[in-house]
Amino acid sequence: MSPRASNKSTTKSKPGRKPVKANTQLVLNSSIVVKDLANLLGISSVELIKRLMRKGVMANINQTVDYDTAASVATDFGYKPVSEHVEQTTYTRKDLASKEGKAQKPRSSVVTILGHVDHGKTTLLDTIRHSKLTDKEVGEITQYIGAYQVEVHDQKITFIDTPGHEAFTSMRAQGASATDIAVLIISAEDGVMPQTVEAIDHARAAEVPIIAAINKIDKPAADVERAKQQLAEHNLIIEEWGGKVVVVPVSAKTGEGVDNLLDHILIMAEMEELKANPDTGAKGMVLEAKLDNTRGVLATLLVKDGTLKGRDCVVVADTYWGKIRAMFDERGKSVQLAQPSTPVEVMGLSEVPQAGSLFTVVPDKHEARERIEEAQAERQRARKGRAPRLDSVSVQVRKGAAKGLNLIIKSDVQGSIEPVRKSLEQLENEEVKVRIVHAGSGTITESDVMLAIASKAIIIGFNNRTEPRTKRLAESEGIEIRIYQTIYRLIEDIQKTITGMLEPTYVDVTEGHAEVRAIFPAKPGKVAGCYVTDGKATRRSLVRVIRNGQVFHESNVESLKHFKDSVQEMAAGNECGVGVDGFSDLAVGDILEFYRKEKQ
Ligand code: GDP
Repeated sequence: MSPRASNKSTTKSKPGRKPVKANTQLVLNSSIVVKDLANLLGISSVELIKRLMRKGVMANINQTVDYDTAASVATDFGYKPVSEHVEQTTYTRKDLASKEGKAQKPRSSVVTILGHVDHGKTTLLDTIRHSKLTDKEVGEITQYIGAYQVEVHDQKITFIDTPGHEAFTSMRAQGASATDIAVLIISAEDGVMPQTVEAIDHARAAEVPIIAAINKIDKPAADVERAKQQLAEHNLIIEEWGGKVVVVPVSAKTGEGVDNLLDHILIMAEMEELKANPDTGAKGMVLEAKLDNTRGVLATLLVKDGTLKGRDCVVVADTYWGKIRAMFDERGKSVQLAQPSTPVEVMGLSEVPQAGSLFTVVPDKHEARERIEEAQAERQRARKGRAPRLDSVSVQVRKGAAKGLNLIIKSDVQGSIEPVRKSLEQLENEEVKVRIVHAGSGTITESDVMLAIASKAIIIGFNNRTEPRTKRLAESEGIEIRIYQTIYRLIEDIQKTITGMLEPTYVDVTEGHAEVRAIFPAKPGKVAGCYVTDGKATRRSLVRVIRNGQVFHESNVESLKHFKDSVQEMAAGNECGVGVDGFSDLAVGDILEFYRKEKQ
């Protein structure tokens, strides 16, 4: 029977009755009034209502709950509920647990706080951390890593202290979310601001539930209602108005409402039924990493599944591996085990991983190497066609198989966002729906690329530019960035796309780079003695000679040799001799970029 609440009372229990002792049988009727049940259990009505909410039952103090619901709560509090009508059935905690998958056990929730700068993320994280420490601890503890756990009503919550939603989305872009719940913080004084909107879009792309914490309610200019209204304008409809978004007014500074926020996080976590198997090898995510002069690579890992152990062999990002040499908790204390949803700092990785990279424990180094090689081959296969491009969408339209067009719009100034957005949305037709995943102003950043990966979108720049780092990331992830100077050209291209008229374009796909370390005479011209720094040098590819950051020459690879032998390709970490077609002006320090042209 599904839990439910009704206004009809049929209970025989008398209000005001003294609480009975735990572990005793509790005779329950087919329904019972909430306040009577609270009395029977010896807890406050508020506590009971919260507990019921966690079980998905919304009931006020005067409503009744059915037997199954009452019995389930009674069991939580250590009683043995017995039905007056049903034959002496008893429910134990074990019975309830056995309904769940054997290996999967409940795990605590992982929460990220997102929002506009200065709206109170840091203050809220600090307040939560300090409110849950004992007095003795407060003086001696400084947070050691970018994540921590607190205990609320005997349940743990892990907070990730992300530098911003870039990391959040970059994690999502790797195929899994570090976070179970996003707390969107909005200053009641300033209301929804551009980064709040960005945070909303990122949380949506990550498909995690959102709790809106309206902060700074202690300030005289605080206007909670306006903030709620603004959330609704961004399609976050709050519960009060029939939507799903929980709103909690708080003051991160005074602590008001913070306990309520934590209760709501617990309720939401319970509704999400978060599970993991602690009895298997760990899998998880890198939250942050750095290179320490004395201790080597230090990485903060969040265990998502399994248990991470002190001497485990770990493959990171399917690219490299390392053996854990030491492990520390959030307070810098050495630990040997990290269970699901626990953040730990580890020593022993061979390279500094990027935030958001996934890690997996493997039995030994042989398996680590095998996994890395397999993944490399898989990446090469998957890279092509991972995200749509305008011309590939156009081809799909021609085939009658277009699914829609997801766009991220970044424009030079705030004022041009709406005209661009409106013009594009108006273009959609029956076959192709145009969806603007995010629209904002400023330079196109790595965060936009991450969002594009997560939402399979194309990035449209209007009168702005892309940072080189962003460009590299977009290229390696197969994300198309198109910059337009006039709205006319932009509309023309989108129009052509959704009517299947856009012609294919060619893109450059980088194979690898080599650094010129010596120059040798050859017939004809010269040969560069190179060291392949990343990817590979390939005989059949095109090559760019880059000098002082500028492209100096572009042509074909004329020869590629390993010692005296001609080879087809040379992998990173090796030396080789390269001849560049029609170019004998090579110099030590030049960078050779190997690339091929690919039709999209
Ligand atoms: P973040 O950029 O989102 O991490 O914001 P901070 O936590 O650094 O807060 C920005 C400023 O707002 C700081 O001066 C805080 O002291 C202040 N602040 C944060 N929360 C509150 C609050 O609830 N009430 C008041 N009055 N000030 C707050």
